[in-house]
Amino acid sequence: MPVSSQYPTINLPELDIYSFLFNRQNRPFPANNIIYQDADDSSRKYTYTDAVKLSLQFGQALQSHYSIRKGDVIALFTPNDIDYPVVTFGTLWTGAIVSPANPGYTVPELTYQLRDSTAKLVIAHWSAIDTVRKACQELGIPTSRILILGAQHDPTGELKHWTSLKPSASATKSTTPAKISAKDDLAFLVYSSGTTGRPKGVMLTHHNVISNVCQITACEAGKLSHDGRRRTPGIPDAPPTGDRILACLPFFHIYGLTSLVLTPMYNGLHTVVLAKFGIEKFCSLVQEHKITFIYIVPPMALLLAKHECVPKYDLSTIRITNSGAAPLTKELQEAVFKRCRIRIKQGYGLSETSPTTHEQRWEDWDKKIGTIGKLQPNMQAKFCAVGAEDEVRGGPPKELKAGETGELYVKGPNVFKGYWRNERATKECLDEEGWFRTGDVGHVDEDGDFFITDRVKELIKYKGFQVPPAELEGYLIDHELVDDVAVVGVVSEEMGTEIPRAYVVRKGGMKAVQKGDDKTIINWMNAKVANHKKLRGGIKFVDAVPKSASGKLLRRLLKDQARKEFEEE
Ligand code: AMP
Repeated sequence: MPVSSQYPTINLPELDIYSFLFNRQNRPFPANNIIYQDADDSSRKYTYTDAVKLSLQFGQALQSHYSIRKGDVIALFTPNDIDYPVVTFGTLWTGAIVSPANPGYTVPELTYQLRDSTAKLVIAHWSAIDTVRKACQELGIPTSRILILGAQHDPTGELKHWTSLKPSASATKSTTPAKISAKDDLAFLVYSSGTTGRPKGVMLTHHNVISNVCQITACEAGKLSHDGRRRTPGIPDAPPTGDRILACLPFFHIYGLTSLVLTPMYNGLHTVVLAKFGIEKFCSLVQEHKITFIYIVPPMALLLAKHECVPKYDLSTIRITNSGAAPLTKELQEAVFKRCRIRIKQGYGLSETSPTTHEQRWEDWDKKIGTIGKLQPNMQAKFCAVGAEDEVRGGPPKELKAGETGELYVKGPNVFKGYWRNERATKECLDEEGWFRTGDVGHVDEDGDFFITDRVKELIKYKGFQVPPAELEGYLIDHELVDDVAVVGVVSEEMGTEIPRAYVVRKGGMKAVQKGDDKTIINWMNAKVANHKKLRGGIKFVDAVPKSASGKLLRRLLKDQARKEFEEE
């Protein structure tokens, strides 16, 4: 039997994101409150009124100068910046789809996403412009279709800054927002490798994302205030004021996009936007801005627990912290509380679920450490038997009884529409009833608290970032010394994250292996990929990579081998 959320069902508006955020007669907003402020230059900031006005102007300019229409894709390639939300909302106003990419991508990685998403225009930060120019050149996207955002403009004036685009007077009168069908039309195309293969475009509709903002808001609204009183659960009528968030997770990942770009706008939270995380900077910003609420990933928790700079700062304004994107251990949660009295509660989700599906309640944060919490409102979950790795699953998976350990499936309004132009991959993880296969393994206990204990999909996560093994294998197999290869993830306790290790069959076999071969391959490989995909777990040469009778790679065996090797190293 599927498990249903314990929260009361919430009403979800069927609106497009722009109207949801800005046409809010029923949920008025303090017009001059600051919503986004630059952490490095506090004079750069946007109030609610600025955000409404500038995003509308930008949307109108996109229509009139670039003929951007509903369904077009616009790529965003930038570190966090206060301009990010504004250009995002302006793009959504036109009905176009925003496709964020990691600004650390190399030229081939960005080219892949721009090509696959069929991006018509790229909005980029000046610091990433060389990569953008090269990728656009490769795809024949003219320079006139690159726009700059952020504090730095193009000193040569060749590339336009988004703020320089002013809609003409006639455009201001004649342009109209796109007519959007919230449940069908896409708002975002984020990239994820899903359960297998290379990154794919995850199609998130306006309704998917709005649902998750409402689900998160409903759960967080039950939070404790400073005096320990519990606020009423459910979506509050008016946005809560007074909370200040530090946006230190990247906006290009769905976790940052929903929780730091959209949710603060909906709830009117003063958000200090940090372009690049560093522990000392983080602590000094918390102290300076009296930050009350933060979203983090487990490696940041590790720094809070261990880094020598932490005790120098006053972090006492933090009421609670949310950790997601990767498992948070009980030891780490306890160590952070012991050292800096910061309470960390855990959430769980995926790009495909916009992202949050589970969250610990504020008041439960220390009651059951290790749980990912309860199912979000309006959601259902079930666990199914995990198939043998080489088994081709015939028919639907066997559903397990409550409490048994299996693969987690979820269903709800935040579950994506499918993979962009990839029906096969969509069918493999999303059934006709709307059940989405997560690729993660766990169980639910008698209180309705969920636990994630393993992952059956290929994915490796380095500090919360996706490292798709198939992508690394795709590069490695092209190296002249490599005959066959498999990449798996292994947990490095020291780094507080998984890292990728490659098992390589060398051309000519084991007898041909020479000292330094591993370094040669690693250096060659690392130059091709973004920082988070580097082969930090090194290379091991093997006679053969284990495969099933049908030729499928048996990653589980290699994962076990990697774990043992790590324990011994
Ligand atoms: P992404 O699509 O990049 O957000 O990655 C989603 C994946 O991250 C999930 O399928 C999990 O494997 C992992 N993940 C996210 N949150 C957690 C968590 N709290 N505990 C364990 N794994 C997590």
